Amino acid sequence: MVQPGGTIGILGGGQLGRMLAMAAAQLGYSCHIYSPDRESVAAETSANFTCAPWTDNAALTNFAAACDVVTYEFENVPVDPLSAIEPSLAPHPRALETAQDRLKEKRFVEGLGGMPAAYAAIDTQPELIAVVDRMGAPGILKTRRDGYDGKGQWRIRTARDAEAIRLPQAPTIYEGFVEFAAEFSVILVRGRDGEVRFWDSAENVHEGGILASSTLPASETISAMLSEARELAAKVANALGYVGVLTLEFFATHEGPVFNEMAPRVHNSGHWTIEGAATSQFENHIRAICGLPLGDTATIAAEIAMTNIIGEDADTAHEVLSGNGTHLHLYGKRHAREGRKMGHITRIAQG
Ligand code: AMP
Repeated sequence: MVQPGGTIGILGGGQLGRMLAMAAAQLGYSCHIYSPDRESVAAETSANFTCAPWTDNAALTNFAAACDVVTYEFENVPVDPLSAIEPSLAPHPRALETAQDRLKEKRFVEGLGGMPAAYAAIDTQPELIAVVDRMGAPGILKTRRDGYDGKGQWRIRTARDAEAIRLPQAPTIYEGFVEFAAEFSVILVRGRDGEVRFWDSAENVHEGGILASSTLPASETISAMLSEARELAAKVANALGYVGVLTLEFFATHEGPVFNEMAPRVHNSGHWTIEGAATSQFENHIRAICGLPLGDTATIAAEIAMTNIIGEDADTAHEVLSGNGTHLHLYGKRHAREGRKMGHITRIAQG
């Protein structure tokens, strides 16, 4: 167990690290951020900051030596250099390794009985043309690695698109387009003793591949397939020997929950838990990795809506505070850019 006053290392310097550090502070811990980017909104809420490349073994080793436990908030941290600090890490880097490659991730989840969208690995244009001919269009071509928030994705509407597209210089995967009724995520926390707890699932709406909003309660369509989706998420967590918060994203379809992707970390679709659940995803992640008892994940409001503030200056965001039950979170990012997550708003209504 990490004692009060202990230090939690966080690999990654973004808003998820910032909110983890705020939850850690409440429990008497201080945080040490590791990020190659000098500008870090997580470092602003943390006691220590190492700014160094992911591949700097000496910096990584010194960082881990200064921490009681090390976790990550960014899923594209290169895995190989982490072997030097593996004993400090929670969750185990095998979760990162699996989630970083869409092909590996889908095969792993299929092996546990999950159902992803139809897919095929693509390395060359003739392969893509043949696969689109076999599987049909529409579909989505995605880079296997390093994609996030809709980046590294291309819609293939017709066979002609497959001929015209210039493939990226990286392995890709072609996915059949899923006609879904809704999207949702299962977010769980798994403790060091293997105990698993779930939060309620929000209904997620994406715009341009980026999460726009998460709303609770979710529709009946989603509730009906929740136990199946949770069963799969628990199998994934157990198979990985996972410690901390884990997220699986699903499409709700006529055939049941179709697995989209997993994130071995706290997740944007769980931000509502800060005000809407007895214990937030951030606090429970800290509790889990520090070996503390897990907190109650129950929803404590009748209706909850989280909306992201994306790409726009957060300067006027304070205006929303005049509404009752409205909670504003700004991440302190200086420069707004298209698609950049600047903050979020959670609206809570009691029944
Ligand atoms: P991803 O980054 O793979 O989670 O994709 C971002 C969003 O794009 C998803 O949440 C969906 O809204 C949409 N999307 C991704 N893959 C598919 C698919 N195979 N079929 C339909 N929509 C998809």
